[in-house]
Amino acid sequence: MGSLFKVNISPLQDAPGETMEIQTKLSIPNFTGEGNRLIEMINPWLLELQVTNLNRRFQVSGNLTGNYELACDRCLEKVRMPMETELFALFYPEGDRNPPEEGVAFTGDELDLTPLLLEAITLKLPMKNLCAEDCKGLCPVCGINLNTQTCTCEREAFDPRLAALLNWKEQEGGGRSGQSKD
Ligand SMILES: [Zn+2]
Ligand SMILES: [Zn+2]
Repeated sequence: MGSLFKVNISPLQDAPGETMEIQTKLSIPNFTGEGNRLIEMINPWLLELQVTNLNRRFQVSGNLTGNYELACDRCLEKVRMPMETELFALFYPEGDRNPPEEGVAFTGDELDLTPLLLEAITLKLPMKNLCAEDCKGLCPVCGINLNTQTCTCEREAFDPRLAALLNWKEQEGGGRSGQSKD
């Protein structure tokens, strides 16, 4: 992936203590996240930044907002979701003898925010992604989407909650008919 966004800091170079505000639309390419999941970006995304000159170091903070699509873990249908994620980083000039912990080195008059942006998005991705809490998923035999279609496959993985419910209904029915007989 090429560079997503670079901040030109030349307007701040000779102005310690000054802050510059940036608001821009970004086009972010799709990428593959953890677990080989494809993250499809709905562009554009909005990036709002504050960049402050802290005596040769530059503090970057801000927000990134946008929408993305990710396949449902069960039925594989795409689910569209909004995201708002925060950014924070301290950039220091490469060769700094006492670099800040967790800082990011830079050279010249540009701060490349690409790793920062991708990390901010990755941190906000859900561990589990379902199109609905009760998504029925795919039939393990024929592969159809059970949310929209039905099939007559014998499924080995019978839902134990449903089995318990059927069992309870049978008992309930038996009890009632017993009472009516008395
Ligand atoms: Zn689903
Ligand atoms: Zn089936």
